[in-house]
Amino acid sequence: MSTATVQVIGGGLAGSEAALQLASAGINVQLFEMRPDVMTPAHKTGGLAELVCSNSFKGNALTSAHGLFKHELLEVGSKLLKLAQKCSIRAGESLAVDRVKFSELVENAISSNPNIQLVREEKSNLDSQTYTIIATGPLTSPTLSHWLMDKIGKKSLAFFDSISPVVDTDSIDFSHAYYKNRWEKGDTEDFINCPLDEHTYHLFVDALTKADTIEEKPFEKKELFEGCLPIEELARRGPQTLSFGPMRPVGLMHPTTGEKPYAVLQLRAENREKTLYNLVGCQTRLKQHTQKEIFQLIPALRNATFARYGAMHRNTFIDSPSVLDNKLGLPGTRWFFAGQLTGAEGYTEAVATGLFAATMVYNDMTNIKDFSWPSESCLGALTKFLTLPNEQFQPMNLNFGLFPRPEKLKKSQKKEFIISTRQNAMKDFRLPWE
Ligand SMILES: Cc1cc2nc3c(=O)[nH]c(=O)nc-3n(C[C@H](O)[C@H](O)[C@H](O)COP(=O)(O)OP(=O)(O)OC[C@H]3O[C@@H](n4cnc5c(N)ncnc54)[C@H](O)[C@@H]3O)c2cc1C
Repeated sequence: MSTATVQVIGGGLAGSEAALQLASAGINVQLFEMRPDVMTPAHKTGGLAELVCSNSFKGNALTSAHGLFKHELLEVGSKLLKLAQKCSIRAGESLAVDRVKFSELVENAISSNPNIQLVREEKSNLDSQTYTIIATGPLTSPTLSHWLMDKIGKKSLAFFDSISPVVDTDSIDFSHAYYKNRWEKGDTEDFINCPLDEHTYHLFVDALTKADTIEEKPFEKKELFEGCLPIEELARRGPQTLSFGPMRPVGLMHPTTGEKPYAVLQLRAENREKTLYNLVGCQTRLKQHTQKEIFQLIPALRNATFARYGAMHRNTFIDSPSVLDNKLGLPGTRWFFAGQLTGAEGYTEAVATGLFAATMVYNDMTNIKDFSWPSESCLGALTKFLTLPNEQFQPMNLNFGLFPRPEKLKKSQKKEFIISTRQNAMKDFRLPWE
């Protein structure tokens, strides 16, 4: 086996997983972590794999996308999830950890591994001919961010996400919704329209103005743009701000009755398969349970299931679909990306893309051509979302809407189909070095 060195930049969740995986495959790794010398605005320690906010890797149930994802990662040998299990604490159906213990376990595994050299240093530039995994996360240091921006283009690196909630198409009540593009322009199925009568509209606006929002972090205080305000902020500016703004009904008359609704919430397709739709203009800082309560006031969304909730926070991420290839690599270089920087949102997703990047680097170094993650697998579905063309790309966590499934099946059958095809696809799966 080659003893060539791979550089991994960032000792967070994705970088630590990638380093441990490559080391177990016999590859020498240099892992660069800038903390504690250079801190991010959210990390509090110099420890590797520090969880900056919640201590939960979310649910374990195999009937949920999050549970299935962790099960898959453990099955294929994720190093960090195994360590997470070792320091788990009771949290109902979720995998929650003692965050200090978790970071210690990861740090011990890395520092005691003879194939890994841990370098406490901020990297500010990279050599395109050295195999490198860039996993510097949502708070990538400004120096490296600016350097990256030069390489991939200013418009391809975002510093703030402004995410509208996303719902499963199957959960939309079409007796209160219709497909239509404003003024009949473009493909009709690009937009689903959810009309509101006057009474419901005012209930909705009233609920928004009174709702609880998430406290922004001190480093996020000044980062709101006038052109992209949270929906609750627009509602507070006046009772008609939304009906003349993102919820204006003009050009959206009902296709059969010809009636003009009082206001319309438009949903735009989130993926090519149109299994997910996002709520246009509904970027928000509302707490998650409040988002559900308020958006379900809209008749078409009464039973909506949320594939992801809205958010607005500081987050450095690449426009992966337009910049990276299907290996999450930057064409013309030996750089591969992992973690939140790719737009994979969440702790489990960060670990998973670290593992994915390790396999892609290994294949490239050893000239393996016949390895890929099945598209029916959780990691296959997520990485497909990250790399398929998507003009509206925003970070996403794994959810059932990302999996391939036949449209003809009923909603309950689709989940069963996803779970069983995933299991079949992963039956004989092996990591490339096994
Ligand atoms: C404030 C905040 C709260 C979040 N809360 C949650 C949550 O509760 N649950 C959840 O699932 N997800 C959460 N996320 C989203 C995301 O899943 C996590 O941030 C996750 O840790 C991302 O993993 P990562 O490996 O990509 O990045 P990180 O875990 O952040 O690791 C990146 C590492 O790179 C280092 N680094 C940065 N620049 C350089 C450089 N130039 N040279 C060397 N090292 C560098 C950093 O110090 C850091 O250790 C949150 C994100 C943020 C910003």
